[in-house]
Amino acid sequence: MKKIISLILAFTLLLVPVCLSACGSKNDADNDAKDENGGEEKKVLTMATNAEFPPYEYYDGDTIVGIDAEIAALIAEKLGMELEIVDTEFDSIIPGVQSGKYDMGMAGMTVDETRLKSVNFSDSYAKGVQVVIIAEDSSIATLEDISGKKIGVQTSTTGDIYATGDYGEDAIVRFANGALAVEALKSGKVDCVIIDNEPAKSYVKANEGLKILDTEYAVEDYAICFNKNDADLQKQVNDALAELIADGSVQKIIDKYITAE
Ligand code: GLN
Repeated sequence: MKKIISLILAFTLLLVPVCLSACGSKNDADNDAKDENGGEEKKVLTMATNAEFPPYEYYDGDTIVGIDAEIAALIAEKLGMELEIVDTEFDSIIPGVQSGKYDMGMAGMTVDETRLKSVNFSDSYAKGVQVVIIAEDSSIATLEDISGKKIGVQTSTTGDIYATGDYGEDAIVRFANGALAVEALKSGKVDCVIIDNEPAKSYVKANEGLKILDTEYAVEDYAICFNKNDADLQKQVNDALAELIADGSVQKIIDKYITAE
């Protein structure tokens, strides 16, 4: 009898560690599964842009590349989020951010008093300059010469807003994007195009017979816009942006796309 009891005991003792390790590995397996399918999945950060604004955002094949796309990718990485870039009309970006369709808007977008009534802006990550594109043989030589002329702009951009204020509604011809405005300049439908300097440079480079007026029209700050109720994301992005500016990453991206002449 004693023998049997001790045999059972020995057998039980043998089984316990087996059970423990088996149970343990089962638990581990469960945790792994949770990691893959549970709360660990990356949240998506939706960025609205207008990918017709080189070198900040434009298509390289099917991919949207550029300064904003690359900075946003680094921000998303810091936030542990997955970046999704949505291409839309420039004037749909702010309404989409306001309605919650997009988490943020990043499109070489200028911080502007009127926009600040609708959205919040991050700290600025780049400077922009509004310039005037004219034909090489244009009679326009100064900003004053623009009075009474037809001005092509991209709808709802600061070029549109300022030029409408300075030269009057009748002078303004609006286009969905800068490329269309430049086409109109080439065919003589407008006398000049007021647009941000970096896209202006790439349009002038790509189209013969155009030049940029020496005098700058306006200097401004580019920033990322957020829904007014999303101060939390705005803060997280600002913190990430501050780190990326401090460690030189932002400048490195800008230098990659904008080479000094
Ligand atoms: N910087 C200009 C603005 O914010 C133009 C931006 C753009 O066309 N993507 O209005």
